[in-house]
Amino acid sequence: MTKTTSASVKITPMMQQYLEIKAQHQDAILFYRLGDFYEMFFDDAVTASRVLGITLTSRNSKDDENRVPLCGIPYHAVSSYLAKMIKAGFKVAICEQVEDPKEAKGVVRREVVRVVTPGLVTDDQLLDGKDNRYLAAICQKGKEWGLSLLDLSTGEFLVSEREDLPSLLDELGRLAPSEILLPEELGEDSSLAAELQAYLPQSCLTGRPPAGFHPETARQRLLEHFRVANLAGFGCEELKAGIGAAGGLLLYLQETQKTALDHIERLTPIEFDHVLLMDESSRRNLELTQTITGSVREGSLLDTLDLCETPMGARLLKKNLLFPLREVEDIRQRLDTVEQLCLAPRLREELRELLGKVYDLERLNGRVVLGTANGRDLTALKCSLAQLPKITEKLSGADTLLADLGTMDELRELHGLLEVAIREDAPITLREGNLIRPGYNAELDELISLLRDGKALILGLEARERTRTGIGNLKVGFNKIFGYYIEISRGQLGHVPDNFIRKQTLVNAERFITPELKEFEEKVSGAQEKRLELEYRLFCAIRAAAAAASSRILQAAGRLARIDFFCCLAEVAQRYRYTKPLITGGEAIIITEGRHPVIERALPPGRFVPNDIRLDQESEEVLIITGPNMAGKSTVLRQTALITLMAQMGGFVPAAAAEIGVVDRIFTRVGASDNLRRGQSTFMVEMNETANILNNATERSLVILDEIGRGTSTFDGLSIAWAVAEDLVNKNGKGVKTIFATHYHELTELAATNPRVKNYNIAVREWNDTIIFLHKLLPGGTNRSYGIQVAALAGVPAKVVARAKELLHNIEQGEFNRQGEPRIATSPRKKKQQPGQLSLFGLGESQAVRRLREINPDALSPREALDLLYELKRLNDAE
Ligand code: ADP
Repeated sequence: MTKTTSASVKITPMMQQYLEIKAQHQDAILFYRLGDFYEMFFDDAVTASRVLGITLTSRNSKDDENRVPLCGIPYHAVSSYLAKMIKAGFKVAICEQVEDPKEAKGVVRREVVRVVTPGLVTDDQLLDGKDNRYLAAICQKGKEWGLSLLDLSTGEFLVSEREDLPSLLDELGRLAPSEILLPEELGEDSSLAAELQAYLPQSCLTGRPPAGFHPETARQRLLEHFRVANLAGFGCEELKAGIGAAGGLLLYLQETQKTALDHIERLTPIEFDHVLLMDESSRRNLELTQTITGSVREGSLLDTLDLCETPMGARLLKKNLLFPLREVEDIRQRLDTVEQLCLAPRLREELRELLGKVYDLERLNGRVVLGTANGRDLTALKCSLAQLPKITEKLSGADTLLADLGTMDELRELHGLLEVAIREDAPITLREGNLIRPGYNAELDELISLLRDGKALILGLEARERTRTGIGNLKVGFNKIFGYYIEISRGQLGHVPDNFIRKQTLVNAERFITPELKEFEEKVSGAQEKRLELEYRLFCAIRAAAAAASSRILQAAGRLARIDFFCCLAEVAQRYRYTKPLITGGEAIIITEGRHPVIERALPPGRFVPNDIRLDQESEEVLIITGPNMAGKSTVLRQTALITLMAQMGGFVPAAAAEIGVVDRIFTRVGASDNLRRGQSTFMVEMNETANILNNATERSLVILDEIGRGTSTFDGLSIAWAVAEDLVNKNGKGVKTIFATHYHELTELAATNPRVKNYNIAVREWNDTIIFLHKLLPGGTNRSYGIQVAALAGVPAKVVARAKELLHNIEQGEFNRQGEPRIATSPRKKKQQPGQLSLFGLGESQAVRRLREINPDALSPREALDLLYELKRLNDAE
């Protein structure tokens, strides 16, 4: 990038001001307001022109030395440019003129009114309605790691504490913040920053002065913001590190937003005791909110379940999916609500239709409070509020659970105000009028009619004066010098009344003014400006009235989100034939004819083969599932975890029937995932995840293990898998409910010695030389893996498949030579060794290797070295 410093530039007073403001916002691109444009200068201009694709020009372009790179964007299009900058990962400081240029002495006063960073976005263009956009802050105090998260657009403010960094990272992974604040000492070159960057590459890291995170000042700041005496009411008085993080976050907001933050009404501790826990890799493995390959929402469980009508509902669904419940009663209550909505399809349909007309109330409210809501936003707010009474009315006649769901503040008076005040077609811009409805404000109506009817009023005045004076040819005219005047021809001057004031004499006529005419003129000439000003002021007052109702709006939004969430679950249940699970405090998970909610949808109707699963702590604690690749092992494993999770979220499940003994955690170890980019080997990742399971699983957990031990040699892998299974079955004397899919048939022997282990296999049928997958889970182990048939199905060339069969046959017959090599490998038909098998079968050294062992590279001349290279090549080719 060309480095253009400001040092050499001749400094005008305006540039001086620019540089002073820029100095306070070094890490942001400064949008500097200049009339109808935001301008960027120096390096900011170079960067912005590249990111935004706009032309880079320069001031003082004739004078090379004083060239100042410059680019600009029109103020009314700022949001789309802002969106681009933020998407590209930049922070933007928006600097406005804060006094009227006409009244300014010298340079117009300017101030940064808002700093927009990836975590502090409220503009619609940048937000995905179905997702929260979180700003996070972390802070370590002693052994505890504090974490706080805020969605500025909705005002949701969370706090929590974790006892170690990995679980903090889990939490961050779950909520995927756009920006993370760190006390500066941990900043740029710290290992924490590096770790965060590797773990959450999408999040922007921002270093902050550590003082802002000090628990005591942080606490004080929170108390002042919430106007409370202590934080006990929020249930987070004890969270010292968490409070440090929350206070550090609030300070950042106060510094960057410069507006009221009243919609941030409470600090909510994340309750880990009441939710089903999942670590980050389990969540990813189960593809709850995005797929493993591609990291997209489409194809995830969330995508499959999301039939919500409102963005609030969709966000709540996501949250509930990430934090399913653990208390039997809470889950039952949710399920009963879903059931009632299932039994009332008509009501559900009507509710969904009304919800479809509700906009993103939480975010509208956020913009209202932050003072950035425009005309269209208030119209959207009005339309949304209009649905509230209709929704409560629909629910009031329903059963108790639903009636309770529908009790909410209907905000009728705010709706009424918006209805009478805001025009249906109110635009985005606030300074160009057309915001306020006729009839709302008399002064405005008069101004508008003055502007529209100016001509008619003049004609009216002319007619009145004619009658009053009896002068038939009296006429009202206008010129730039005198403004409005009354012209009387010379012959009629005798009839001119006393209150006419002479202004000009012409050859055949004289021109007069009257007080009434002057008053009219003043009104008309300033009317347009006044109208725009008045409309703006009225709009701001109405927006302030809405802001005053912020907490009520948020409550109503929360209610609507819940109604939407429940309607969605009921709708899904009915559309896809899900059933109500029986939730118990017992040990067993019994699923009859369970299906995988996502795979089922990708297949033609009726093609998914349902399977039964029973897990308990007596005879079916650890299920060992064997079967060839592609048989459907992973599918059975995952569907068991997903059904359990969906049930604990309060949703119906894809099964003919299900009894779910509530679990405290779900662990999964499934395939290699994308941890590789974090610089760990597949095997290391696998073992990390396994260690985590063994260390943390309790007797109430559900563990899903897929092909563990695959990443190392056969005997190592088998031994590890065996030991892990043994540990799980005996853990704390009670064992852990586990489903274990493996291709190590040897593991099926565990069942012989351990009554709590059961073998299952997934049926395949051999047919001619190939196999057909039946996807049916059957009792008993299997001793065949059909790997070669699967390879053939996958398109491995017939020649290779045939050779593999030969080798397999020999291995199975135990036909090895003394080196442990299958005889076939040295058969006359195939004398040469397969190079890849050298180490596998432990053969002797090749000649080339022997020759290499003999030489001393230091004693070789370049010529000899080259000759040797040729010799080695020859030896190798001959072998
Ligand atoms: P494995 O883990 O045994 O290698 P998967 O569980 O990945 O096998 O299943 C492979 C594919 O088989 C799935 O993508 C799906 O298309 C299909 N499949 C699996 N289970 C079923 C089932 N129960 N009914 C229908 N198709 C299934």
